[in-house]
Amino acid sequence: MSSTEMGEQSGIQVVVRLRPMSDRELKGNTLPVVTASTEKREVTVIKGTGARTLRNTFAFDNVFTSFSTQQEVFDQTLAPVISDVLGGYESTVFAYGQTGTGKTHTMEGTIHDADERGVIPRAAFDVFRRLADESYVEHAVSASFLEIYNEELCDLLLDVDPDDIAAAKAREKQQALRLVEDPSTAKRKGRGMYVMNLTEETVKRPEDVLALMQRASTRRQVGETKMNKQSSRSHCVFTLRVDSKRRMPDGSVMECAGKLHMVDLAGSECAKSAGGDSLDPSRERERKNINQSLLTLGRVITLLKAGGKAKGERIPYRDSKLTRLLQESLGGRCKTCVIATVSPSSMAVDETLSTLQYAQSAHGIINKPTASSMLKVNVDGHARPATAGGNAGNGSSTQDWSEMECRMQYLEAQAEEAAAALARKHAEQSSLIDRAERAEAGPITPAPRPSTPTPTL
Ligand code: ADP
Ligand code: MG
Repeated sequence: MSSTEMGEQSGIQVVVRLRPMSDRELKGNTLPVVTASTEKREVTVIKGTGARTLRNTFAFDNVFTSFSTQQEVFDQTLAPVISDVLGGYESTVFAYGQTGTGKTHTMEGTIHDADERGVIPRAAFDVFRRLADESYVEHAVSASFLEIYNEELCDLLLDVDPDDIAAAKAREKQQALRLVEDPSTAKRKGRGMYVMNLTEETVKRPEDVLALMQRASTRRQVGETKMNKQSSRSHCVFTLRVDSKRRMPDGSVMECAGKLHMVDLAGSECAKSAGGDSLDPSRERERKNINQSLLTLGRVITLLKAGGKAKGERIPYRDSKLTRLLQESLGGRCKTCVIATVSPSSMAVDETLSTLQYAQSAHGIINKPTASSMLKVNVDGHARPATAGGNAGNGSSTQDWSEMECRMQYLEAQAEEAAAALARKHAEQSSLIDRAERAEAGPITPAPRPSTPTPTL
């Protein structure tokens, strides 16, 4: 199949997840300025007050709110991608956003809590669930966990004593990691770009993946303290490689080797200049590298979405290690999903707008901001963080009114989303009951065997 047949335009999905207000934001009485609608697939940001209020509405392939469950996020982002991976393709899912907006919550979540698990553990469960189908005559799954910090590669599964992390042996092993291209791609299916010497652990069941994630997270914490880096400043790439042999209805056996990369990107704010001169040189280098890789990723996705590959344009994969590594999975035959995460708080409004603009250009449709003043009198024109207890007060200030209006809109949107989430839950339960009843009624005519119910939306 040619690279354009699968449709590079349709291969990239961009979704946004708006997290709830954090306890700290709630306690600080922070103004919520971002609302989202799952049904309309829109996110709206209000910036400024009074006559200077700018209301920006962005549309995406999907929008998740604080009422969306981890399962819903998985079903609508990764589930379709996993079918491709089992079919032998290489695909990637990214979490992009400011630190503290829910990237790790989305990718990893609380791994030992079945409801709160993120997409990585869910992907592992889903892969093994599908491989349990009797048509698979053979399979092998392996996992690797790579960190890219400052354009340097780090193996998060490297089996070294965590206390020994700064030791020469560990450093030597890490330095042996190299991003290389396998020239015999055609013969050794699924190799392409890969990291030489990176640990690839065989996993036999989803629980093995959970154990690996736990191990990596411990290792990472130690590494961070010892090497003075922070998870928010590195990209983490968790890769599941699935090799399988499947018996087809015509009796032939299909061999597939697919890969799924799940990437928790560096905090988008880390790419911004912190004000120039006072930065120490190592921080400046770090910032430039993060900037370079996030911008390159954005450019690559935007170009692919615009059909750049088919038009023969140069796609700048080589401009960062991240895009080089993921080159196979970006564009061409594969599905890519970007999950942009944002906070509802006014404190983060600039970063939220920048995240949504990034996601929007990856999505390929640029929206136009509309100025919409809620009240048109007496304004100083600047948003300010809400003061403690900053309700409408004596009603004499326009800003207070604007803030109250913001809060009202947020509450209204929350109520709508809660109702919509309830309706989804209800529909899901009705469909489960329906299926159970049909199964109980028994096979009058040869009926399909009842399979494990997967909630559909
Ligand atoms: P990031 O990885 O982007 O820095 P985290 O995933 O660590 O952000 O999220 C920051 C905090 O917010 C965590 O305590 C996390 O549990 C919480 N959080 C993030 N997204 C959500 C969400 N959708 N629902 C509930 N809590 C969330
Ligand atoms: Mg994180």
